[in-house]
Amino acid sequence: MNTQHHVDLAQLTTFHVHATAETVVSVQSTDDVIAVLRSAPSNVRILGGGSNILVTGDVSDVILKMEIMGRDVLHENENTVTIRFGAGESWHDSVAWCVDQGYGGLENLALIPGTVGAAPMQNIGAYGVEQERCFDHCIGIDRSTLQPHTYRAEECAFGYRDSVFKRALRDRVVITHVAYTLSKRPIVHCDYADVRQELDAHAITAPTIADIFRAVVTIRTRKLPDPSQIGNAGSFFKNPVIAADHAARLHAAFPAMPSYPQEDGRVKLPAAWLIDQCGWKGHRRGDAGVHVNQALVLVNYGAATGEEIHVLATEIERSVRERFDVALETEVNRW
Ligand SMILES: Cc1cc2nc3c(=O)[nH]c(=O)nc-3n(C[C@H](O)[C@H](O)[C@H](O)COP(=O)(O)OP(=O)(O)OC[C@H]3O[C@@H](n4cnc5c(N)ncnc54)[C@H](O)[C@@H]3O)c2cc1C
Repeated sequence: MNTQHHVDLAQLTTFHVHATAETVVSVQSTDDVIAVLRSAPSNVRILGGGSNILVTGDVSDVILKMEIMGRDVLHENENTVTIRFGAGESWHDSVAWCVDQGYGGLENLALIPGTVGAAPMQNIGAYGVEQERCFDHCIGIDRSTLQPHTYRAEECAFGYRDSVFKRALRDRVVITHVAYTLSKRPIVHCDYADVRQELDAHAITAPTIADIFRAVVTIRTRKLPDPSQIGNAGSFFKNPVIAADHAARLHAAFPAMPSYPQEDGRVKLPAAWLIDQCGWKGHRRGDAGVHVNQALVLVNYGAATGEEIHVLATEIERSVRERFDVALETEVNRW
């Protein structure tokens, strides 16, 4: 366990906005987590890789920085293997390791920044797959009991960029380990248009998990801004899901609007398209802006404050609501 005081959060979050954290405690074990939760007088905030957080002010709560490492095989048979990762492990490195072993299931989620422990939090997803697909269980320490509890998928209420850890259990449970069951006879998912095109470009007709992994890394490197070059937290907003009759009305008014019918009858709209239609793509105000190629990604060109980015996000939300009567929900967590 290592405690630091007066830490600039710009170095611990990918938006790189400056704000001071009074106390940051790095934890390397479950006992460390329990000790921090027991001793913290007020709320504790949990920090992984800081790739899904916008800091809009100094933080006086104790920040628990997750650094529990390790990888254990829990079960194995000829078809599957269940591996439990420490919550502080890098997500991308863990996916890369699985692919190297020939264990399939998470390869579409390559290059998502952050830690394994944060993955269940918003049920990370990309290129047609969510972490829920391979999730077996996670272990969390509840603030009120200080006891480890095993959360099976049924208890996690996973949804689109959503889980119980983002709602009823937000800031209440520290996830210390996450276990995934992977396939030794993987069936690849390559229906997503970008992935298909990338495979076609290399004339790959029967892709392996390593092919999917490489394709996803190539696409993401080409399309998404690298936080080490320009501060950002990936998609700032979730794609809104609206009622079918509302979508029909919008289609009548905006025939070019893309839309994706959901199993429950509702319709998902691409937030990036809505934001782009409101003229925000490439917009810059001081050092806060909307990425030039990705309307969904808000960026810090250098010296933006979290508040400036937050104000910009609020204006984007308002203009989308006024033009389309659609409420955008923020994906990024505001501190
Ligand atoms: C360039 C870029 C691309 C991205 N692409 C995607 C994408 O394709 N799909 C996607 O889903 N996300 C994406 N993201 C968002 C982000 O990478 C993920 O949400 C990631 O899981 C966050 O991990 P983290 O460790 O950085 O979490 P943090 O940002 O540190 O924390 C995020 C939230 O989880 C909580 N939390 C973190 N660790 C724990 C823990 N151990 N226990 C309990 N709560 C915890 C925090 O309190 C906070 O509320 C992207 C971000 C960037 C910068």
